[in-house]
Amino acid sequence: MYSAIRLFTRLIALLVIAAVAVIAFLFVRHHTGAEQVEAQWSDREMAPVEFDTAARSVSITPLVNWHASDHRFATEPGVSLLIETDRSIILFDAGFNQGDDARSPLERNVRIMSRKLENADLIFLSHRHRDHMGGVEAERDGRLALDFIADGDKTPVVSPTALPAEPRPVTEIFQPSRIAPGIATTGPIGRQLFMGRIDEQAMVINLEGRGLVVIVGCGHQTIEKLVRRIEETFEEPIYAIVGDLHFPVPEGRLSFLGVDAQRYFASGESPFDPVGWRDVDAFADWAEANDVRLLLGGHDTSDDVLTMLADRFGDSFKPLRVGEPQCLGC
Ligand SMILES: [Zn+2]
Ligand SMILES: [Zn+2]
Repeated sequence: MYSAIRLFTRLIALLVIAAVAVIAFLFVRHHTGAEQVEAQWSDREMAPVEFDTAARSVSITPLVNWHASDHRFATEPGVSLLIETDRSIILFDAGFNQGDDARSPLERNVRIMSRKLENADLIFLSHRHRDHMGGVEAERDGRLALDFIADGDKTPVVSPTALPAEPRPVTEIFQPSRIAPGIATTGPIGRQLFMGRIDEQAMVINLEGRGLVVIVGCGHQTIEKLVRRIEETFEEPIYAIVGDLHFPVPEGRLSFLGVDAQRYFASGESPFDPVGWRDVDAFADWAEANDVRLLLGGHDTSDDVLTMLADRFGDSFKPLRVGEPQCLGC
């Protein structure tokens, strides 16, 4: 009996030591990665990008997001947008398919809207996370879960990271550059999250007579670095921020083992210093001071934040809801 108790005590001690070792490893990895990201940011040398043309209008149709304009549409904590200018059609991200359904929310919503993604000129991947690539397997393998688009689809993909299993032609982006008439990418901006490093790019559309329409997938870059990158790269002022920003305040929509993963593992400086209202207020102050319009989804921004921004910005704020197109310059 005594030896059984001793064995049990040793087992518990070993488990505690293993857990402490894993947690220590994660914090060391996070700290080292964060230092590397900051060093790369400090050493950045990016050539400016000049637009040779401008779009007359930009239409944004949310295909996947947290909110929908009516109950027919599937919703989930993922992102997919159809971006249309007078010159180009771009599919921006591929949703999540969180339930791993045979027919994903993206496919179902596209069918309800009677849209054809085969017509897209380009597919733009903001970053290699499952809620933007179409699921866990797509993220793991490095491809987009867009199998429902016609066989042999060869629409080119622009991606901030390699996509080894993607059958379409992939251009890996390293720098800010033009990608279509009047459309550019900011190039990837690195971020060390507690869950691991991520490199995210945003799309920039030069809207005639207005300025830059910036389309953001998840906002891991942080708004400060994103704005800095745009100001360093383009001459035109920012006219609108469109898409999803990482403001899961006071809480996010995705949890892991009961922990608010969006807020504690995918935002802020560390789990002890997650994103908070001070960050949201700083963003709102910047947008107001610069007369920037906001068209925002809710897959990683809480309803509390969306409501605050709607109240504060009035007509300069529009929610992005599945099935409800928004148009700038129309
Ligand atoms: Zn993400
Ligand atoms: Zn996301």
